[in-house]
Amino acid sequence: MNDKPRIAIIGAGLGGVTAAILLQQAGNDIAVYEQAPGLARIGAGIGLGPNVLRVFNHIDCVDQLMNIGIVQESNLNRVWDTGEVLWDIRKQNWEEVFGLPSLTMHRGDLLSVLARSLRPGTIKFDKQLLDIGHRLGGTQLLFTDQHEVEADIVIGADGINSKVREILLGYDPPIYTGFVAFRSIYPANRLGDWRPISDGAKWWSDDRHPAQEDRHFIHYYLTKQRDEMYFVTGSPSPDWPGGVSSVPATKEEIKTCYEGFHPDVQRIIDAAPALSKWPLLERNPLPLWSRDNVVVLGDACHPMKPHMGQGAAMAIEDAAVLFRCIQSADGNFDSAFKMYRATRIERTTEIQRQSHENKWMKHPGDPTWVFGYDAMTVPLISETAQAAV
Ligand SMILES: Cc1cc2nc3c(=O)[nH]c(=O)nc-3n(C[C@H](O)[C@H](O)[C@H](O)COP(=O)(O)OP(=O)(O)OC[C@H]3O[C@@H](n4cnc5c(N)ncnc54)[C@H](O)[C@@H]3O)c2cc1C
Repeated sequence: MNDKPRIAIIGAGLGGVTAAILLQQAGNDIAVYEQAPGLARIGAGIGLGPNVLRVFNHIDCVDQLMNIGIVQESNLNRVWDTGEVLWDIRKQNWEEVFGLPSLTMHRGDLLSVLARSLRPGTIKFDKQLLDIGHRLGGTQLLFTDQHEVEADIVIGADGINSKVREILLGYDPPIYTGFVAFRSIYPANRLGDWRPISDGAKWWSDDRHPAQEDRHFIHYYLTKQRDEMYFVTGSPSPDWPGGVSSVPATKEEIKTCYEGFHPDVQRIIDAAPALSKWPLLERNPLPLWSRDNVVVLGDACHPMKPHMGQGAAMAIEDAAVLFRCIQSADGNFDSAFKMYRATRIERTTEIQRQSHENKWMKHPGDPTWVFGYDAMTVPLISETAQAAV
């Protein structure tokens, strides 16, 4: 092996790219293999709390992100039909409390800012991992185009249907939660002269809703100029046909689901030119996060309902902690990966659990345990220390 290990990262999502930047900036030999043909500005909005920006501070890209995304002036929790404001999450000045603000932005914009921090050519597109093999002298990655490469460490950052997870643990499809997300992004001028009363809001149903099933509607701007609107929902839907990650949805479907919701919600739905529908999937905590020189992070490891807005945040925090463990490993990657799991498992499991419940921030509470976390300085826990607890 060279001085620096050859690290192969599977998946150029937010977790994979963050890990790649941190490891590359520390002088490691990094290649990211991504099945897509390139990075595109498609997808969704994303909320980035101080816990995420704290990691991005080390990549030195927070100013760039602040120039694109919006620091919300207000983000309201509202009652689905009356519009009553339960509380304004932004009432507390997070910048003062946590040293960093919270941003909302387009996921594609975030990924392109991050990707610019990588050396050109680091991401190899059109590379879909098929298998991992071990032969004397190294680990081979085989891609669907029959291309083979060797690596000393493999990081599976390949999302909810992770091939790397499957190679470690066997095929096991994620669990459909019985909820879908309707999503749309469109220019805010489609709303005409009207604008919502806050930069963002989550509208919560309660048991006065005719269908008496938990559902919510979230909207926020994606840009500093407030010229791009995004909405995303958590909507009950008993079945999901397997095998597809999203389908186009109709206005009729979403209108039926959000019947009786406040006129502001109806206006935001009415202005959408098109929308899509995504299954909300999750997994129970995995019994194993790594074997030998292969490890998983982010959705490959602990996918969750998106109801705390912390799925990508957990992938980014994982990347930071994994980076620190690899740097401190002195070549013993098995022990580094065990340290990474021991440091992360309690937090990611609790966030999976609370995301499933969908009660986070409905009522005033202290978010310090989520937003105060610093993945770049949190003490690393050795496996033996964890076992002793
Ligand atoms: C409706 C919805 C709203 C959400 N909102 C938020 C939010 O506001 N804030 C937040 O923090 N999180 C949010 N999340 C969660 C977040 O999207 C995920 O947790 C996050 O994207 C996980 O990042 P990742 O890097 O682990 O995986 P991904 O982003 O899924 O990236 C995986 C990458 O791996 C690639 N890949 C997959 N298989 C292979 C293969 N075999 N070979 C090569 N490449 C492969 C994929 O193409 C992809 O680029 C939301 C999720 C949903 C569904």
